[in-house]
Amino acid sequence: MIKLITSVHGMHDCLFPNTILWKNVENIIQDTLNNYGYQEIKLPILEKSELFKKTIGEYTDIIEKEMYTLFDKNNNSLTLRPEGTAGFIRAIIEHNIFYNNRRFWYNGPMFRYERPQKGRYRQFNQIGIEILGLASPYIDAEVIIVVNNIWKKLNIINNVFLEINSIGSLTDRQKYIKQLILFWEKNYLYLDLNDRKKIYTNPLRILDNYKYKNIKLLKYAPKLQDFLNKESINKFNEFCDILNFMNIKFNINNYLVRGLDYYNDIVFEWKSYDIGSKNISKTICGGGRYDKLINNMSNGKNINGLGCAIGMERLLLLVQINKSLKSNINYLIDVFLIPMESDNSLKKILIIGELIRKKFPKLRIITSYLFQKIKKQIIQANKYKARFILIIGPNEIKNNLIILKDLYFRKQIVISENQLILNLEKYFSKYLF
Ligand code: ATP
Ligand code: MG
Repeated sequence: MIKLITSVHGMHDCLFPNTILWKNVENIIQDTLNNYGYQEIKLPILEKSELFKKTIGEYTDIIEKEMYTLFDKNNNSLTLRPEGTAGFIRAIIEHNIFYNNRRFWYNGPMFRYERPQKGRYRQFNQIGIEILGLASPYIDAEVIIVVNNIWKKLNIINNVFLEINSIGSLTDRQKYIKQLILFWEKNYLYLDLNDRKKIYTNPLRILDNYKYKNIKLLKYAPKLQDFLNKESINKFNEFCDILNFMNIKFNINNYLVRGLDYYNDIVFEWKSYDIGSKNISKTICGGGRYDKLINNMSNGKNINGLGCAIGMERLLLLVQINKSLKSNINYLIDVFLIPMESDNSLKKILIIGELIRKKFPKLRIITSYLFQKIKKQIIQANKYKARFILIIGPNEIKNNLIILKDLYFRKQIVISENQLILNLEKYFSKYLF
């Protein structure tokens, strides 16, 4: 017996027709981003490992546990990107694109060595947004408006909820972290073993453990909000005002800190209870400001930035709950061409196939080369989820006719060759024009 080679744990194939759903969702997102003037940027999947250590933060989950790091033949340490912002910032600095008021997006696979479960994989895809050189909270609000519109277009607005917070400046956070460490030290005995290790390395992350909320430990913990500077508070309030003005619902969650070190001020996450296990929400899209990141990575370039990333697999799980997008893919093939013989009827079909493909470039048209009995071929066409069958046999050749079978309405018409285009136009005009 040959031992079968399977895919890597936590990495999945996406098969037809899910690929269609994926493409539809991608198109909706990309059209929306284009509509707001965001431009695409394509970035490498592999980067130097030090890039991620420097940007994401050494004591984050991603760097400590989740990196796919490998060595090339020259013994250079390279890492499959776990997220998009680090590579984006590297590219901006490398190409000297420090323009203000620029909006970008990227789309592609990310890699994290995590424990796989529904909605959590080792290879997953993100569509990310990054914006450079805008300080006003109007742009933070714009990102929220854009993504909110994407949820509306995908019909999942009722499956998600938005949480926002301000984590202040780096200085605010340092003052707060000092107090928080003191608090964890005092309450050492209440902490999980795993969290005890984080007291000095990533004390903010301990706040994410919902267990402590249950035992009311968090109630007594110092609050970052009490350490925020005036400007950060004003910006956050302004941000909330705009969201209210635009009728966007949100909750303020003071425990939302995000898992990466580079954020400051406004941070946000859209979550849903409809992915994986009930009662535990999963994040679909998360992001925030990173005003100091470019400065830290370059030789003193001062340009601020912000961004967010949508997890495609989680989004697709949500979209699949929704019936209206699904109905788009009831038919996977529009016209299934059946020549009854491999001589003249095949030749005729080949010519007709080219003709209708040229006339209707968006239709999906397949030619069958099975030359079996018509019943068997109709079964095939149904398996392909075809909408129409077009049949030509010796009889049709002789009389210059074509049989057109509508598999949805289960009716058949016999038409002359020159009526074909007109007939197809009539049927498909709804979604061709
Ligand atoms: P989580 O808290 O669920 O681990 P995260 O905070 O690590 O998420 P981000 O780094 O903010 O996630 O990434 C943005 C989005 O990418 C997430 O909201 C999620 O939709 C998606 N994502 C992150 N990690 C995974 C994964 N392992 N599998 C599938 N999607 C993921
Ligand atoms: Mg994570």
